[in-house]
Amino acid sequence: MERYFNPTAERMSRRDIAEIQLKRLRQTVSRVYNNVAYYRREMDRLGVKPEDIRSLDDIARLPFTTKQTLRDHYPFGMLAVPLSEVVEMHATSGTTGAPTLGLYTENDLEVWADVSARSLVMSGLSREDVFQITPSFGMFTGGFGFYHGARKVGALIVPSGAGFSRRQIQFMQDFGTTMVCAVVSYMLRLTETALEMGIDPAKDTRVRKGVFGSETWTEEMKRRISEVWDMDVYDIYGFTELCGPGVANDCRIHDGLHVWEDHFIVEVIDPQTGEQLEPEEEGELVFTSLTKEAAPLIRYRSRDLSRIYDSTSCDCGRTHVRIAPIKMRIDDMIKVRGVAIWPSMVETTLLKHPELGMEYQIHVSRVKGLDQLKIVVEARDKVGGDEKARLAQILRRELHEILMVEPEVEVVDPMTLPRQEVGKAKRIIDNRA
Ligand SMILES: [Zn+2]
Repeated sequence: MERYFNPTAERMSRRDIAEIQLKRLRQTVSRVYNNVAYYRREMDRLGVKPEDIRSLDDIARLPFTTKQTLRDHYPFGMLAVPLSEVVEMHATSGTTGAPTLGLYTENDLEVWADVSARSLVMSGLSREDVFQITPSFGMFTGGFGFYHGARKVGALIVPSGAGFSRRQIQFMQDFGTTMVCAVVSYMLRLTETALEMGIDPAKDTRVRKGVFGSETWTEEMKRRISEVWDMDVYDIYGFTELCGPGVANDCRIHDGLHVWEDHFIVEVIDPQTGEQLEPEEEGELVFTSLTKEAAPLIRYRSRDLSRIYDSTSCDCGRTHVRIAPIKMRIDDMIKVRGVAIWPSMVETTLLKHPELGMEYQIHVSRVKGLDQLKIVVEARDKVGGDEKARLAQILRRELHEILMVEPEVEVVDPMTLPRQEVGKAKRIIDNRA
């Protein structure tokens, strides 16, 4: 029998969803127009007033918000409430500029916990579970997002946080962890650590459910993790500025991620023109928060590429619209000799080969004015030079066909590439400056 955390909300009729969205959109637009200087200025510039929002289609009249908007108003310029009402904050790492923040009132935290709990129950979490939370607890939005949700569900939480991989595996064994959550690349690290310790994750641990996010990953990567751990793998979506993990999540059908539409409106736009696209058309995901009090977001451009499913019925019984798993982020695209290359194209090709491990790097450099592409990938097991050369040759051919640029390929020994204990993996090394 299907389990829901919030059955009323999760199975709301489409008509009720549309009604609640319009009501909340109008409230949000009024709130930001009256309290956030940026939105008032932009709406005035576009000649749109809060009372002009009469239908959901009118959302297209509203201004976009970008990461740069938030940076320009760092830290508290986008607040719609007095600072004294804000009770928790999170921030992005800010590796490419000023960090952007996630700011929460008491009610915002309540909503975050609810959508996180819905997502976790959809991924199989129950009171009976021992749930190990491996994303860090701190400014990063991961750890606390899962924590707030799992508290609602009533599972036994093991808040191990990031790093100390051997200790993580030890905890799994000592406490009988049944479900984990992690940044995707960190799950790869945990897998290796278990194997190094002589532990077969499928046989020697009780971990059978996992929910992963924060990085793009391919179906091949999901299949690999699922096999090694004999695990049901779920995909969770969210980002700091909107609310961390829990904006969307896939259900047991594993065909798209349900977006919690009573709290967020999702649109897909053409990233070049900003025009709204039709269902099933791929473009940039844009989110509007419907219930956030502290720092509501209007049409926030996520830089993530996906599509909205046309169908709103799903065998799990949930009525909320689905988006395709995010395989590409606009900022991950690299241009080599004028050709657009996405890490997911490389990953999909590499992981089709069982002889290869799950760690790889994409190097781009410029030699005598010409871009050079080099893919370094680890073999799954230690193999001789001839075998490495054979694999490299096959990969060079396959990647050339898919990327339209011929790369150099190097197959290296297992455990050669650097590992990330905390934070996101660095797979693209661009030395062209
Ligand atoms: Zn479903």
